[in-house]
Amino acid sequence: MAPNDALLRRNGVFQISEERGLLDYDRLVAARILNRAHRTICPLCLQELSSQGFFDRLEQAQGREVLDLTVTKLNLFHIEELKPGGFNHRPYNLGWGHHHCNVVVKDAGIMQTLHWMSETLKRNIDDGHFPEAANNPS
Ligand SMILES: [Zn+2]
Repeated sequence: MAPNDALLRRNGVFQISEERGLLDYDRLVAARILNRAHRTICPLCLQELSSQGFFDRLEQAQGREVLDLTVTKLNLFHIEELKPGGFNHRPYNLGWGHHHCNVVVKDAGIMQTLHWMSETLKRNIDDGHFPEAANNPS
């Protein structure tokens, strides 16, 4: 598809979505799927995503490579962790995120993971394993 055709298609999809009440930016921002500039972000690290991540395969450890690896750097990310018997694949509960961040969150959930990361970082700083953070608290 030519770039202008892709843009035309994108704009058409957005227009139809808004007309039918299917595009709630506030909900997407609150769910950590978009940032305030309405750009797609990783729900854990909040970094803006590049479309290139959909094409880049994960780097593999030397000596442990598999030829048929299909995992890309970006994948679908559940905003609220999967719950057995729950309706998990609902709108506003799926966003795009880094594969690595998704692996870190696993079934724990984003907020619980952030608390764990914060405590882990604090312990490392307090124990002197992260001197540049200890000298520059933010
Ligand atoms: Zn991320």
